[in-house]
Amino acid sequence: MSEVLVLVDHADGEVKKNTFELLTLARGLGEPSAVVVGAPGVAAKAREALAGHGAEKVYAAESDTADSRLITPSVDALALLVERAAPAAVLVGATITGKEVAGRLAVRTGSGVLVEVDGVDADGTATQAVFGGAYVVKSKVTTGVPVLSVRPGAVEAEAVAGAGVEESVEVPERDARLVTRITGSEPIVGGDRPELTDASVVVAGGRGVGSAESFSVVEQLADAFGAAVGASRAAVDSGYYPGQFQVGQTGKSVSPQLYIALGISGAIQHRAGMQTSKTIVAVNKDAEAPIFEIADFGVVGDLFSVAPQLTEEVTRR
Ligand code: FAD
Repeated sequence: MSEVLVLVDHADGEVKKNTFELLTLARGLGEPSAVVVGAPGVAAKAREALAGHGAEKVYAAESDTADSRLITPSVDALALLVERAAPAAVLVGATITGKEVAGRLAVRTGSGVLVEVDGVDADGTATQAVFGGAYVVKSKVTTGVPVLSVRPGAVEAEAVAGAGVEESVEVPERDARLVTRITGSEPIVGGDRPELTDASVVVAGGRGVGSAESFSVVEQLADAFGAAVGASRAAVDSGYYPGQFQVGQTGKSVSPQLYIALGISGAIQHRAGMQTSKTIVAVNKDAEAPIFEIADFGVVGDLFSVAPQLTEEVTRR
């Protein structure tokens, strides 16, 4: 059976939920092999969790410089393994960095790429929502090793034992003059909240929230649920909330168990990033707002009245 390479999304060896979803999807296509890129020792930290979700092999592409070189170490490692292992496919998360890796890898290996995939049949036919979610299409890569970026939350992760055999991969260092290096980074806001693409509950605010200060209403409801905070592009462009929290076509794609939209109209570009959420709750004072077309539960009302009551009720329970 051919290998299926899965790029591991991790923070210092702590594996993120979307990787387990990718491993589950990979099992339907072949033998899952996890590819861990990072500083020396990260693959050993991640190995048990990866094996617990079906990884037969754990490739360790480790180097002292990997963490300071943006996404090129991942592209380099995957390109090398595509050549060496001739896998049936390469799966990466459809995160901001994952999508960038997928595009670059496809160019590097001369392969076709499918983005924002929601599912893959055993014969490699992928299901995708395209044109901002207006159409659902089935597509198949016919050139090279298929590279697929899979929407976080689209697949239910299953815990299945795999061998998890660790194998070191020596990726040649690039010419130091040709690489961009991260010289420092710090989280903007978000604190202890779960990551947007990993969270099982997302509470998002739109232009209806009205100001950066008022976003505390969104944050308080999110904290009552232990949820992540999201924002529409209008809220981001108006300076109410940082861009890293934008949900939608040009932001992040999320598929949580519960998505609560506060003061969001439901434009197609916003829906593209959240319409696969399992349950959608919308609070909007306009009964005609398009968000109600996809909401499972809708409240026509002022978010500044509804959200605090909801926060109080959730906290009380
Ligand atoms: P609005 O459309 O202005 O809606 C605000 C809503 O709040 C209204 O429905 C109003 O009734 C309601 N409201 C106001 N006050 C209250 C209150 N007190 N209580 C309850 N409800 C209230 N958008 C995204 O979100 N993500 C993207 O990634 C994205 N990408 C885009 C890419 C392209 C190429 C383009 C052209 C657009 C993109 N957009 C994206 C923008 C998108 O078209 C919409 O403009 C945007 O989603 C609107 O955001 P909103 O719903 O917050 O604002």
